Amino acid sequence: MNKIHTSIRCMLLLLLCTPFIAPTAKKDIQKTVSKSAKKTTIDLLVHNGTLITMNKQREMLNHGAVAITNGRIVDVGIIAEKYRAKQTIDAKNAIIMPGLINGHTHAPMVLLRGIADDLATKDWLKYYIFPIEAKQVNKDFVYWGTQLACLEMIQGGTTTFVDMYYFEDTIAQAASDIGMRIIAGQTTMDNSTPDSKTAENSLALAVSLAKKWKNSELVSPAIAPHAPYTVSGATLQKANQISKEYNIPFIIHLSETKAEKDTGATYLESLGVLSNQVIAAHVVHPTASDITALQRHGVGVIHCPLSNMKLSSGISPVTRMLKEGVLIGLGTDGAASNNSLDMFGEMKTASLLQKVAGVPTDLSALQVLEMATINGARAIHKEHEIGSIEKGKRADILLVNIDAIHQVPVYNVISQLVYATKSSDVQTVIVNGKILMHDRIFAKSISEKAIRKHVKKIQQHIQKTVSKKTASTSIR
Ligand SMILES: [Zn+2]
Repeated sequence: MNKIHTSIRCMLLLLLCTPFIAPTAKKDIQKTVSKSAKKTTIDLLVHNGTLITMNKQREMLNHGAVAITNGRIVDVGIIAEKYRAKQTIDAKNAIIMPGLINGHTHAPMVLLRGIADDLATKDWLKYYIFPIEAKQVNKDFVYWGTQLACLEMIQGGTTTFVDMYYFEDTIAQAASDIGMRIIAGQTTMDNSTPDSKTAENSLALAVSLAKKWKNSELVSPAIAPHAPYTVSGATLQKANQISKEYNIPFIIHLSETKAEKDTGATYLESLGVLSNQVIAAHVVHPTASDITALQRHGVGVIHCPLSNMKLSSGISPVTRMLKEGVLIGLGTDGAASNNSLDMFGEMKTASLLQKVAGVPTDLSALQVLEMATINGARAIHKEHEIGSIEKGKRADILLVNIDAIHQVPVYNVISQLVYATKSSDVQTVIVNGKILMHDRIFAKSISEKAIRKHVKKIQQHIQKTVSKKTASTSIR
């Protein structure tokens, strides 16, 4: 970085005085050939944008550039002249920022979007989701559902998602085929699930997932016991052993509803399964001792405000947990309880919801952006690889236009991103150094048409079955 870098506050003032947002222009990818033999050759150069690094100092940079080679960031700053790039993206009129991290999803559930709304969590699961899943969920369902979810997430600027579902190996494959980064959590329950008759079987699936994907650049395998109310203490302990043995995350739904107040972090601690490998989704109703336990063990909490609102779960004490040093990221949850995978919408909602529950200064725009980027990376225990634009990290990067009518004028670029920007303002998405979308057009390797065709077929099949009789009490 050189002299232009400064703190966010200083930079915001600088940006006020700088005509950095000009009318929208296509940011062409150019094949570049430099005349200088001294320049270092790299794969991709993104330059000439307002760079939000989210590094430790939260530095921002006008006319910043990012140099990328072999999927990693090799340089950041006013560095464009130093490199000869095979491809160059001019980020004029755009923000260059870290890819967003969706910390909690059930990706294939996009296929159940809108199938059962306006219900309490317990009834929604017992009478709708679990019975429908028992009949519908198979490898075909999760593969095409995940690919559809990936398209939606890419369009909304998500580059990494933390998933937990059934047939997770197929989900990992679907995400990997598209080119997205995923923590893929194999779900475990004591009862029969779509991919396992017993808990033992699903634990074995998690072990084979861990072995198969351990060296993947895009897929991080994980084990995902569903929740303390569907998984016994003994099974939770077995899952913990697998997490330790294979050094993989342990993902779980925790304290989502009031009814779960006795099975929160303190309960997990008593079982000996709390650790800095745990990623706990929701945590809406933690007790004081739960919060202390979450902080003490370095557990990552994933706040899912829209899902919590839709299912009337309540308002998570995010402001209090942040003050007490709990690591907190942001997630959408599955599209059956959201009903989208839109992290820009989630950021705005997260901030507003804390203000509704507290005071207007709670959960600032910057804090929310941190939750969706660098602090989200900390919450999923991947901050050494992703979450900020820094030398050595994986090249997961977005270009976001902030020149649409709903964004003009710009006084504060962070405020603009959180409170005014829509996911449709995301222009270009790079994951692991590969361009997955440019100027809102998917890479040639991605066939939206084929995905839509398969999804249509699955939807028609579900429609037939569900119209006969949705409700069932056969599960749980
Ligand atoms: Zn969930």
